Amino acid sequence: MKVKCTIIIINHTQSVMCKDCLKEICPNRGNVCLETGSYLLNYSGCASCKSLSFILIKEKNVAEEENGDETVTYNHTCNECGHLIASHEYTFTLDEEFQEYSMNCALCGYGSDTVSILPDDPREKQLF
Ligand SMILES: [Zn+2]
Ligand SMILES: [Zn+2]
Ligand SMILES: [Zn+2]
Repeated sequence: MKVKCTIIIINHTQSVMCKDCLKEICPNRGNVCLETGSYLLNYSGCASCKSLSFILIKEKNVAEEENGDETVTYNHTCNECGHLIASHEYTFTLDEEFQEYSMNCALCGYGSDTVSILPDDPREKQLF
């Protein structure tokens, strides 16, 4: 599964991120998918209050479908002034054979990973 960064497209209609706080908008993270936390290396400091303090996780929401699919969304906000830095989306989908993870966030970037739920996944042997 190929995931494209949709944040930039979304941002034309709604404010989901602040490019002034970021070093790079939606970097490609390969198969890195964060279910929580912040990618601090991409944070250049709050453009609103000029402080480089902690990033808070706000309004975390986990939506679970009946078929086991999961979507986690939350906002990255400035600890000092509450400025919204970026909105984060993480999805987990369960296929018959695979678990798919994907992440989309202007701060943390985008990535996707697929893990076989079968015990003898030939790709896993290549990895280790
Ligand atoms: Zn900002
Ligand atoms: Zn701030
Ligand atoms: Zn994020």
